[in-house]
Amino acid sequence: ATPMAMVVASGRGARRGIFLKGHHALETSRRVDTVVLDKTGTLTTGRMAVVAVLGSAPDIVLERAAAVERGSEHAIAGAIVAHAAGAVGEPEDFEALPGLGARARVDGVSVTVGRPDLVGAVPASLSSDWAAAEAAGHTVVAVGWDAGDGAAVRGAVVLADEVKPSAAPAVAALRAAGLHPVLLTGDHERAARTVADAVGIDDVVAGVLPEGKLALLAERRAAGAVVAMVGDGVNDGPALAAADLGLAVGSGADVALDAADVILVRDDLTAVPEALALARATHRTIR
Ligand code: ADP
Ligand code: MG
Repeated sequence: ATPMAMVVASGRGARRGIFLKGHHALETSRRVDTVVLDKTGTLTTGRMAVVAVLGSAPDIVLERAAAVERGSEHAIAGAIVAHAAGAVGEPEDFEALPGLGARARVDGVSVTVGRPDLVGAVPASLSSDWAAAEAAGHTVVAVGWDAGDGAAVRGAVVLADEVKPSAAPAVAALRAAGLHPVLLTGDHERAARTVADAVGIDDVVAGVLPEGKLALLAERRAAGAVVAMVGDGVNDGPALAAADLGLAVGSGADVALDAADVILVRDDLTAVPEALALARATHRTIR
């Protein structure tokens, strides 16, 4: 690589909010053939809103969930805290469970918010509302605690998210460049499909645990793909590091910025195909 071509490319990139970290990023960007995109906060705005609270005592479900989420950085957490609007207890022993949920002691009980499998089965009394919320494409997080009869799911918070306006054009541009897009999420299949359909992705891997995200990346790489992972931060550091090329979008959490090879400070997903195209163009001038 001629240093001059790289300097010119980095100047052009910087003006467009695209920062490639050195030679590895440039060389790998050129070879990428598969682009895996995280859902929440990457394809969607991550500005979530609570649309319903389920359970026989929804006020307590919301209050306890919000108390736990005060300690969490996740988009889900911000939405729950905002919806509770101040009626929130003081959490103790807060524990973040990345890609799964969060847990803390509230009013002397251990309260868990997140994937239902963190707490237990979805009770029959909630199952039809729960299924309807999932069918609508919403994210549904379980809220559970021990009420003297063992830890169990006591309710749920239903959240809506919005697809970024730039997501569909970005996916179209990836396809036009001959790249294969994949949607990867810890959220359930129906929420994933709703977003995938809106942006034009048919390869969807949903409902996976954080280890499942890493396994998917390893699997695609073992099958010969050169894989870019696009994430927004909070939970995405390990996945960005496990891909051939990690791209962090938006303002990004520090952990993602460290793990990423490419940093896109423009909160517009068309920066992804643009970054890859810029790397290719730079390579051509180098040769
Ligand atoms: P995505 O893969 O779409 O970016 P995440 O990996 O951030 O989503 O989270 C996956 C799932 O884990 C969420 O859909 C939610 O069920 C649960 N989850 C993660 N963090 C939290 C949290 N702080 N509060 C509640 N649920 C959470
Ligand atoms: Mg995410």
